Amino acid sequence: KVLQEPLDIKIDHLVFRYEKNSTEVLNNLNLTISQGEKLAVLGRSGSGKSTLVSLIRGDLVPTSGSVQLAGVATEQIGDRISDYIGVIQQAPYLFHTTILNNLRIGNEQAEISEVWEVLRRVGLEQLVKELPEGLNTMVDEAGLRFSGGERHRMALARILLKDVPIVLLDEPTVGLDPITEQALIDTFFKQLSEKTIIWVTHHLQGIDKMQRVIFIEDGQLEMSGTPDEL
Ligand code: ATP
Ligand code: MG
Repeated sequence: KVLQEPLDIKIDHLVFRYEKNSTEVLNNLNLTISQGEKLAVLGRSGSGKSTLVSLIRGDLVPTSGSVQLAGVATEQIGDRISDYIGVIQQAPYLFHTTILNNLRIGNEQAEISEVWEVLRRVGLEQLVKELPEGLNTMVDEAGLRFSGGERHRMALARILLKDVPIVLLDEPTVGLDPITEQALIDTFFKQLSEKTIIWVTHHLQGIDKMQRVIFIEDGQLEMSGTPDEL
């Protein structure tokens, strides 16, 4: 690992547009996220939340301004950024290979005992144990053998196995029933309690567990405060 702690994320006068002459999706956004902070990001559909996630991941390059992780522009960190930042999206991607290989993506050396440990932590141990082929069970690309909530738990297990310090959750519970959603949120926050969490969400359920809540509107930080203040 090359980046020096603290692994703060510093967003400075960030402007982003997808095409040269299109309007700015993000327009002069300033935000610092300290290592270990729990931040909820709210904003209406199309306000630029997922775009911000991609910029933090270094998948997009700022039109102007900067996004830095530990003082280094995220787009310059390259593939190594996956050693620091994990993402769980609405539809977590699984690969057409075994459960074991799916979990070991990004950490091929992980011990079998560690794999079972993370499965226990995310609440999938029993389910995998009961499969005739256990960890060697094949998964299809769409992950169809798993329910939505189980796919999210697989994605979380992958992140825990890799042990990245920063986790971006981009509406990870959309489309799940309320009970599954609540259980999943509880698991996320319990298992990620040491890490930086940036949680993009549409509803207020669960945000009381966060330290700070921000609203993005018209490409800018419209409001920022503790859950109590809002
Ligand atoms: P939602 O809550 O619906 O997920 P969001 O806040 O995540 O919305 P973004 O996906 O970041 O919003 O999109 C912000 C704006 O950028 C939208 O107007 C969208 O149409 C536009 N946009 C997103 N992705 C692209 C792209 N690849 N090319 C061009 N425009 C895009
Ligand atoms: Mg989005």
